[in-house]
Amino acid sequence: MTRFIAVASGKGGTGKTTTAINLGTALSDFGREVIVIDANVSKPNISLHLGTPKLRFTLHDALRGNKHITEVAYLHPSGLKVIPGNISVEEADKANIHRLKEVLIDLVGTSEIILLDLSSGVGSEVEETLRASDDLIVVTNPEIPAVADALKIIRIAERVGCNVLGIVVNRVTGDKMEMMLKNIVDILQKPILGVIPEDISVKKSLAVKHPVVYTHPRAPSSVAFKKLAAKLLGESYKETLEKEESQSMLNYVLKGLGLK
Ligand code: ADP
Ligand code: MG
Repeated sequence: MTRFIAVASGKGGTGKTTTAINLGTALSDFGREVIVIDANVSKPNISLHLGTPKLRFTLHDALRGNKHITEVAYLHPSGLKVIPGNISVEEADKANIHRLKEVLIDLVGTSEIILLDLSSGVGSEVEETLRASDDLIVVTNPEIPAVADALKIIRIAERVGCNVLGIVVNRVTGDKMEMMLKNIVDILQKPILGVIPEDISVKKSLAVKHPVVYTHPRAPSSVAFKKLAAKLLGESYKETLEKEESQSMLNYVLKGLGLK
């Protein structure tokens, strides 16, 4: 079964793209087939985080009918499968967001999880993307403006029949001026799926155009993204890691013996 999971926040700059690419990488590391789509059609920005691929076909080509959606996916050097957007302003203007759902249907069966990195705001583009998604992960920061916009996104998702899985609270510093997690849950009335700390490694990974889970696998934010992935899969993080590690050790031995 293929699940289309939107990553949205309402407010800009909360960490939607950071969450989408790192959750995607963590899920791939756990052996899941994942695609991350830049569904921020008006202002695509995955390429700003991961660099521009050599073959420049994008979601915009698929929306215009120039390419089939399966032809515009590429494998990022980190191992993450990505469908980028076209960052040119003219292409963004020409994109027909109403075709998104119809175009995405052709991805059913290609991957277990498809993460859609949404644009900011609460307008028609976001609503259309939520209509094309089964589930929603809301990214927020521990501050009132971000939480207030998260509530708007949750309301839109509920209106269009998109199931709200829960909240990711990003850029948590532990400062006493921050909103407490309990207060965020009280307002949003949804479970917290992950708490991602403010982490300089995220900036370092952005500078080299890679997910932080790939460049700094043991950084606090990376561990938090892996825990989030495990939670989404209904697995325990420690168990998963141990399983992965013992599996790779077994593969190593089998390969060494020429049995694999
Ligand atoms: P959005 O997609 O919601 O607009 P981004 O993912 O682009 O937000 O993040 C906005 C900025 O915040 C980026 O420069 C990103 O590197 C930074 N950022 C996001 N999450 C963290 C974090 N946990 N720690 C430090 N910087 C972060
Ligand atoms: Mg973004």
